[in-house]
Amino acid sequence: MKFNQLEELIKNSKKILIVSHINPDGDAIGSVCSMYTTIYDNFKKKSDILVVGHLPNSYKFLPNIDKAEFKFDDSMVYDLVITLDVAALDRLSNAKILFEKAKATINIDHHKTNNEFGNINVVKGSASSTGEVLLEIYNEQNWKISLDSAIGLYTAILTDTGGFRYENTSENVFKSAAQLVKIGINPNEIYKHCYELKSKNFVMFQNYCINKAEFAHNDKIAYSTVYKRDIERFNGEEDFTDGLVEILRAIETTDIAFLAKEIDSKTTKISMRSKKSDVAEICSVYGGGGHTFAAGCTIKTNIEGAVKRMLKTIEEKIYG
Ligand code: 5GP
Ligand code: MN
Repeated sequence: MKFNQLEELIKNSKKILIVSHINPDGDAIGSVCSMYTTIYDNFKKKSDILVVGHLPNSYKFLPNIDKAEFKFDDSMVYDLVITLDVAALDRLSNAKILFEKAKATINIDHHKTNNEFGNINVVKGSASSTGEVLLEIYNEQNWKISLDSAIGLYTAILTDTGGFRYENTSENVFKSAAQLVKIGINPNEIYKHCYELKSKNFVMFQNYCINKAEFAHNDKIAYSTVYKRDIERFNGEEDFTDGLVEILRAIETTDIAFLAKEIDSKTTKISMRSKKSDVAEICSVYGGGGHTFAAGCTIKTNIEGAVKRMLKTIEEKIYG
């Protein structure tokens, strides 16, 4: 039994926190809700769930999402903090303090750049999603998987494979999905929540950003910019940029696509995708990381400066 240590730690901990990265995506929040449910179902313990940043509307259907807190007491000392889908500790933003104070920590993830910052680390770079890693743990440990837990896992796997389309869509992804369907999840219902509940403003905003996209290196690089004022103009939220960079990658000529998003006048968040090039390596130049074909980083300068630096880094690292 590979994960006995993990089970022991959960059994022996009274106050448990489950947390993922800032502005969680489907894998992050689906995994968190599933882990909460599975710990409750198997050990009758109620963990705390902390959401750092904005929770997209699409994921408000997840079972047990109503247990999530958005604020925390930084004097709190947890017996156990479990991070899910957290590639690096700074992705916890200001909640990092809870991790540092915790008596014990577990880090479960699938980013190849994860530097194993927990006391126990289950990091599987070959897995499509943290959800897929969790299912493997549950199966190994013979933990009961309820329908509510399965809904979280399916959401995690569905969204991190881009709807079973990306290169991480392996045989084990379909095996995992089949197991979750057998438990009773409804693929079409979950698909609709994740992909067909966009607001009109969301679609118009994305259209606006695609319209102002720019291209470099014979159209091999496609990028766009998002200023705070753009999001405000469309009454948007943090998740309005979700999926945008994938639209730029979908262009036939694109190899590398990125989105530069203004955090403040001196901070820009880069979201990067590619078809062939290692974008985790490009983002690691700026202290970021992720996966080969999907990565991100934060550059401490304004959007214009960040775009210039990124274009130069790509030219040097990839096409140099
Ligand atoms: P996204 O562009 O969707 O925010 O992130 C793409 C992938 O890169 C995700 O797997 C995400 O966890 C990872 N990622 C995004 N930003 C960062 C970052 O600043 N640091 C690291 N290490 N990974 C990131
Ligand atoms: Mn993930």
